[in-house]
Amino acid sequence: MKIYIDGTFYAEGEAKVSVFDHGLLYGDGVFEGIRFYNDRVFKLPEHIDRLYDSAQAICLTIPLSREEMTQALLETVRQNQLHDGYIRLIVTRGVGNLGLSPDRCKTPTVIIIASTIALYPEELYKRGLDVITCGTRRVAPGALSSAIKSLNYLNNIMAKIEANQAGAGEGLMLNEQGYVAECTGDNVFVIKRGEIFTPPISAGGLRGITRAVIFDIAADLGVKISEPELTRYDIYVADECFLTGTAAEVIPVVKLDSRSIGGGKPGPITAKFIAKFHEVTQVDGTPIYV
Ligand code: PMP
Repeated sequence: MKIYIDGTFYAEGEAKVSVFDHGLLYGDGVFEGIRFYNDRVFKLPEHIDRLYDSAQAICLTIPLSREEMTQALLETVRQNQLHDGYIRLIVTRGVGNLGLSPDRCKTPTVIIIASTIALYPEELYKRGLDVITCGTRRVAPGALSSAIKSLNYLNNIMAKIEANQAGAGEGLMLNEQGYVAECTGDNVFVIKRGEIFTPPISAGGLRGITRAVIFDIAADLGVKISEPELTRYDIYVADECFLTGTAAEVIPVVKLDSRSIGGGKPGPITAKFIAKFHEVTQVDGTPIYV
C-alpha cells in the first residue's frame, strides 16, 4: 500500500507522523471517508466541500487548493491500482508542542489512504441490523457542531462501545433533548405509510453525503421525504428503518432495543433504495483513470 503524506508517497510501514502532531495529541483535525466504485470516486466534490467546510469551522487552513487536493486523492488511488474501495482523507493541525494551542502548529499534515473496505457482512444487508439506543448522548451543538467531521470522535466511540457490549450492529444516539440525532457512524431514516423521515441536521447528526443521495433517490422515485424531529417512538412504530453512510452504504435496521421494526424483516421500500443506490454508485462519480 502506498500512503500519501504531505505530497510524498510512502510504503505502509514508512507512513508515519510525529508524536507532536496535534491530530494525535488532541484529535485536532478533520477528515473524510470517501468511496470509489468501478473506477469512479463517488460524490468527490461533495466530500471535498465538506472537508474544507469542516476545516474552516475549526480555523484550519488546508495547504492545498481544492483542485490540488482532488488530484492528490485521485493519484493516491492510481498509485495503489485500486478500482473499488475506500479513501480516508485526513488533515491534522500539524506538528506543534505539548500545549493545547494550535498557534505553534505551522503546517497542517495531509494524509490520504486508499484501501478496500467491507464494513458489515453481506448477509446483514439482507437480514438487517439490530440497533440499541446508547446512553451516551450526542455532543451538544453548543459544545461542538456535529456538522464538523473532526478527528475528535470520542463521543461516537463511547456510544459504539455501548453498542458493541450489547452485541448490537449499531448504536442510536439521542441529543440532550432526547430526540434522535444519528447512529455512531451513520444517519438514520424511518419509513411510515410510504413516507420517509430523517432527523434534521440541527438534531445533532452529520450532514451525511449518503443521506443527500437518499433525498435524490426519493425525488427520482416520487417518495415523499421530510426532516421532522424524531423520537425513539417513531422508530419503534416505523414500518421500515435503514441507516446510511459512506462505509455502510444503505443498510436495513430490523430491531431497536430488542423490539422488532416492521415485522423484523427489511422492508420493500428500503430494498428499492438499496438497489437504486447501487445503480447510482456504479455510474456516477469522478473518473480515476483518464
Ligand atoms: N454520522 C456520522 C457520525 C458519521 O461518521 C458518518 C460517516 N461515517 C455519517 C453520519 C454518514 O455520513 P456520510 O454519508 O457522509 O458518510
